[in-house]
Amino acid sequence: MGEHMEVDTAKQTLGFQAEVKQLLQLMIHSLYSNKEIFLRELISNASDACDKLRFEAMTQPDLLAGHGELAITVAFDPAARTVTVSDNGIGLSRAEAIEHLGTIAKSGTREFFAQLTGDQQKDAQLIGQFGVGFYSSFIVADRVTVVSRRAGLTAADAIRWESDGAGEFTVEAATRPESGTDVTLHLREGEDELLSGWKLKGIVTRYSDHISLPIRMRKEEWDKDKNESRPTADFETVNQASALWARPKADITDEQYQAFYKHVSHDFGEPLAWTHNRVEGRTEYIQLLYVPEHAPFDLWDRNQRHGIKLYVRRVFIMDDAEQLLPPYLRFVRGVIDSNDLPLNVSREILQESKDVKAIREGSTRRVLSLLEDLADNQKEKYAGFWNEFGQVMKEGIGDDAPNRERIAKLLRFRSTLHGDEPVVTLAEYVARMKEGQTHVYYVTADTLEAARSSPHLEIFRKKGVEVLLLTDRVDEWMLSFLTEFEGKPLTSVAKGSLDLDELADEAEKAEQARTGDEYKDLVERARKTLSARVKDVRITFRLTDSPACLVADEHEMSGHLQRLLKAAGQKTPTAMPILELNPEHPLVQRLKDESDEGRAKEWLELLVDQAVLAEGGQLENPGAFVKRLNSMLLEVGR
Ligand code: ADP
Ligand code: MG
Repeated sequence: MGEHMEVDTAKQTLGFQAEVKQLLQLMIHSLYSNKEIFLRELISNASDACDKLRFEAMTQPDLLAGHGELAITVAFDPAARTVTVSDNGIGLSRAEAIEHLGTIAKSGTREFFAQLTGDQQKDAQLIGQFGVGFYSSFIVADRVTVVSRRAGLTAADAIRWESDGAGEFTVEAATRPESGTDVTLHLREGEDELLSGWKLKGIVTRYSDHISLPIRMRKEEWDKDKNESRPTADFETVNQASALWARPKADITDEQYQAFYKHVSHDFGEPLAWTHNRVEGRTEYIQLLYVPEHAPFDLWDRNQRHGIKLYVRRVFIMDDAEQLLPPYLRFVRGVIDSNDLPLNVSREILQESKDVKAIREGSTRRVLSLLEDLADNQKEKYAGFWNEFGQVMKEGIGDDAPNRERIAKLLRFRSTLHGDEPVVTLAEYVARMKEGQTHVYYVTADTLEAARSSPHLEIFRKKGVEVLLLTDRVDEWMLSFLTEFEGKPLTSVAKGSLDLDELADEAEKAEQARTGDEYKDLVERARKTLSARVKDVRITFRLTDSPACLVADEHEMSGHLQRLLKAAGQKTPTAMPILELNPEHPLVQRLKDESDEGRAKEWLELLVDQAVLAEGGQLENPGAFVKRLNSMLLEVGR
């Protein structure tokens, strides 16, 4: 006691974290037309709080000794103009209240604020994706009071938190007979329609019917004399109060599935699709899994939480159970309820468990089936999915070897035969391959522009052969795992000596052999001159417009991958490229007959320089390039 106690009971005034202030203002202005969602958020928090208490009580049964049945209560007081949402869940200590009701601890916060535009409609959408939570109370309230007692603490250790949402909040000592939380909203001017049992009940059943705990409200009675309804002393349960996922599919409406999605995902938007199954057999479980419409802000955050809630026989066990789905499906939200796992399961046990492995494999297959179904039957929806999550799905090619073929079919690409939308499947590509073509060709680059203007594409354009255009960072990595599709090797147009024989006819082949002989001397000279910059020089027939290009050796990293790794700060052995010369190009033809050694050297260097630039690379010595170019321009002008 003594000093410690004094600090703890004193009234403290604290400032909100700067981001909270900003969020509050945005929310009040952009979410006003959706103001009813505050009740969904408060009930969702109350439900989470009860789940957490039930979970903690498994190891500390005392926490529930003498405790009332876990439940949520919604009440209102017309005289005081307040609405109160109460629960008898886990509660908040003083430190927890300061932390959870004064800051935003979410990952993705920075990305969220960076994306705000100032346009109310767009920002409303973004806030929704980010999650509105407790702070949404201030849409309808100009003062919010929270009285809370953490389970395990005494009645006198309860706290009262209060704020007008402007910039500060206070915390002081309070008492509460049971653990749990009351959130009281002092309504803003003009919000009196919420002071109605009928109105509140309507909002609860619309948004929160799926909550598995009872939500209680005072029963009302019609007063004939006054011609209005009047609260009685009795309470009634206004929701179905059974776990939604455990109900038969046929009894659940789309609206109920959608409302439940908002609860488990903390997302404001709609789910794109869901799959709900009861799996029977050696491992028994229920899965209700959703694919969101929009990517969350923390999709690329390594520490991000994973979206699956684990239950064991209807009892909540943990949020963000990352063992239940592989990392590349981290955007999936939902619930898995196991019949077999022990109630005291820990994250460590999850890692080892055979049941969990079976659940993960089964759930992965379900999600893939759901996506296949979208891809086959709802192409537009799938296109939307691919735009949001395509890059993450590509991780699955490397991470999920057993499902690699299924994932490969879900991939979508841009290609030289299509506009800018990624719509081409590997199966379509293979189906329209040219006669004699045995490879699936692709080019990688930083941007679509760079990919399209790559000199490596020239021969393919001439021959009318389709090339996939890959510009995602993850592509090079993915391609190291995706080496073939239906027996057709995936081949970079910028690697190795292209086996273009399959695309050439007999006359062309003979012509090419003759040309090769003709250019022997030039190739030999170029090898010597450029030995510090390229590891080999050869004649190519892959170019039509450009005089030269660089290719990587069959088994070496492409120039693009080397640049990516370098940009990511990784040390990479710099593999020297191979220079290929286009014998059809006038520059190369003239070079063959150039007798001035010095000039020939300058020309060759310049050809390497421009080949580096053409594939989006950077010159080691740009100054020398400019000098060379200028002296050549002068010669031309003479
Ligand atoms: P989220 O629910 O997404 O975590 P919220 O803004 O809704 O975000 O709530 C913030 C945090 O405040 C919760 O994570 C929880 O720790 C705490 N909290 C809110 N309401 C309650 C409650 N009724 N009981 C206990 N803790 C609560
Ligand atoms: Mg919440």
